[in-house]
Amino acid sequence: MEQVPTQKAPAVCANGATPTILDPLGDGISSLELVRVSGSDVDVVNAARVSFGKFVTEMDEKEEKLIRYLVKHMHTSPFEHNQLSFRVKTPLFVSRQWMRHRMNSYNEISYRYVKSALEFYVPPHWRYQDNQNRQGSVGSFDDESLKQKYLEGLAHAAKIYEELLEAGIARELARGLLPMCTYTEFIFTCNLHSLIHFLRLRLEPGAQYEIRMFAKGMLKLALPHFPVSLGAWKEFHAPQMEL
Ligand SMILES: Cc1cc2nc3c(=O)[nH]c(=O)nc-3n(C[C@H](O)[C@H](O)[C@H](O)COP(=O)(O)OP(=O)(O)OC[C@H]3O[C@@H](n4cnc5c(N)ncnc54)[C@H](O)[C@@H]3O)c2cc1C
Repeated sequence: MEQVPTQKAPAVCANGATPTILDPLGDGISSLELVRVSGSDVDVVNAARVSFGKFVTEMDEKEEKLIRYLVKHMHTSPFEHNQLSFRVKTPLFVSRQWMRHRMNSYNEISYRYVKSALEFYVPPHWRYQDNQNRQGSVGSFDDESLKQKYLEGLAHAAKIYEELLEAGIARELARGLLPMCTYTEFIFTCNLHSLIHFLRLRLEPGAQYEIRMFAKGMLKLALPHFPVSLGAWKEFHAPQMEL
């Protein structure tokens, strides 16, 4: 039976830059890597300036001012002439939320093709169900006996999954037993407009903690590549956001 290969950080990114990989959930399994970037703040300026038949090769104060104006007034199309690709390793329940963002491109590992590595996300702390917000959680507490039960559930699911595969059951059916906290991997490609849209929705306190940690990581990785655009977005549209 094929085993999912353990993903190792590549020595260099596709564009030759040193890779930066984050572990957004801090469990040694989750990962977020910016694998490819094309474009920069200058391309945002040139996309906007083409209306006047103008072209620049460098950023100066005037160009920065233009980007800040575009961001402030949400003139979004000049932010679409670039591309960012992230390689993401996250629990299935996070990927379900993530892939609701349709204006992007995705390719994901298939547990029809390969056996799951049976890596599970175990929350470092529990949160209570929020009684005000039906989809929210509050607080943070530890309870070893609950954690033990959770781990037992995962171990049981993993054991039966293995047994079904051993019995020759197709991977596409056996995977039905994999819990929502099973890790999956995918490549996510977006442009800056779409990234900002994602960040706006997923950095909000109303978004689930786990996807918020990934959104935070994406901003951290993308910011050095688009310092003026993302810096202005942060300033005008997310000043209160805890980043
Ligand atoms: C905190 C939070 C809670 C959520 N809870 C739920 C939930 O309980 N249940 C649930 O199903 N979803 C839920 N969602 C998902 C949410 O409804 C969106 O699907 C998700 O945020 C993606 O947003 P989007 O459609 O704007 O992004 P994208 O799909 O990337 O689309 C970007 C933009 O393109 C345009 N667009 C895309 N597709 C269409 C279309 N078919 N028609 C017209 N315009 C289009 C829209 O302007 C859209 O804003 C939640 C999202 C958040 C942030």
